[in-house]
Amino acid sequence: MPQDLASYLDFIRTRNSEDLIRVEREVNPAFEITATVAKLEQVAGKRPVMTFENVAGSDFPVLTNLHASRSRLAMAINADPKEMLHRYLDAMENPIAPKEVETGPCKDVIMTGDQVDLFKLPQIEHHKGDAGAYITAGITFAKDPDSEVWNCAYNRLMITSKNTAAIHLTLGKHLWEYHQIAASRGESLPVVIAIGVHPAIALGCLAIGSIDEDERGIIGALLEEPLEMVKCETSDLYAPAQAELILETEILPHEMVMEGPFGEFTGYSLGARDREVIKVNAITHRKGAYYQDISVGHLDHMLLSTIPMEANLYRAVRAMVPSVRQIRVPNPFTCFVSIEQRLAGQAKNALLAVFGSDLYMKRVVVVDQDVDVFNDRQVNWAIATRCQPDRDITIISNARGSDLDPSTAGNDGFTSKWGLDATAKPTLAEFTPRHSFPDGVWDAVDMDEILNS
Ligand code: MN
Repeated sequence: MPQDLASYLDFIRTRNSEDLIRVEREVNPAFEITATVAKLEQVAGKRPVMTFENVAGSDFPVLTNLHASRSRLAMAINADPKEMLHRYLDAMENPIAPKEVETGPCKDVIMTGDQVDLFKLPQIEHHKGDAGAYITAGITFAKDPDSEVWNCAYNRLMITSKNTAAIHLTLGKHLWEYHQIAASRGESLPVVIAIGVHPAIALGCLAIGSIDEDERGIIGALLEEPLEMVKCETSDLYAPAQAELILETEILPHEMVMEGPFGEFTGYSLGARDREVIKVNAITHRKGAYYQDISVGHLDHMLLSTIPMEANLYRAVRAMVPSVRQIRVPNPFTCFVSIEQRLAGQAKNALLAVFGSDLYMKRVVVVDQDVDVFNDRQVNWAIATRCQPDRDITIISNARGSDLDPSTAGNDGFTSKWGLDATAKPTLAEFTPRHSFPDGVWDAVDMDEILNS
């Protein structure tokens, strides 16, 4: 399928023109863009893709809220919304390697050296209290210093000068590990940052798995063709050729700068600490490029990140408990799992599998297959009626979680974790039966007759 953003936007517009709102008047990049998206979502229940064609202080128009709908994301990877998890797992299992191309539209305009100026980009401030203008839709592409495997991820960037930014490397994750290896040799780590991409690329780069899995292959499988990559101007790396805008950067080996606080997916403004610094050596972009922003902490952000998470967790739990039924990540650091428990102890194994496969997970609830994990009331009912806290809660101390979890303040993500076995014991079949009706009574109730009498 076409791997550029413009084709996807055309597709959205043709399918449902109300799904794309174009704002022509001038807007203030400080808070107004994010507030507009948040108010449409929270007050009007609407979540269109939005373009702001005239942003004060910049020649680039802004595109945001691209990922705020599950059905839009599903269409981007040719999947039914209900089948996204399986489509995603299929891509993880059958990656398609990227291919090098001679040139691409991301090279329409090339700026290097003194021409590099991050202040020419829209200086978007998202929430009150943020430390400055942030780039939130930057996808990092970097190569393992010791192998041919690449890593792709989203990393928030705080603009600190014309050609530098602070980068948030999640402690313990893959890009952080690459940087540790390079820095231990006194070397900088070249990183390509793509801003403005087809949502299949956004979904694929968020795949969670081993450091030996190359997300570019998962992106290719989601696109159903190899991701086109074009050689950089200032390093040996390659950039996604169809992106709107590219930053060619390097993470400096030993430099740190104060970054944050920043309003994050947790719903809190937090995370001020010294973080690594990138130097930007080139900016290249399409003619008329859209500068993409992710409305952090709102649906644009939350839906995009949970779909890849759920796919990975399903894979991990299924490796341990083959009869897993559903997985849902309903809140930060939280996972609900339903299993058809065939043997005593499988619920505990399921929750251990979740903790073992996702750094962020801190609270896991496991329920039986008669409970719908997409219904919070049902999950709460199972916790209330099938749990004995002294028997069914497992606490794991001294583990690593998210450094953005405010309850670990001062400890940078060093955290305890808890799992709740809310399955019926000893088995669902032997547990007190749920109430029901004698055969035939339910079916015999004539709704039309009752409602129209
Ligand atoms: Mn990775």
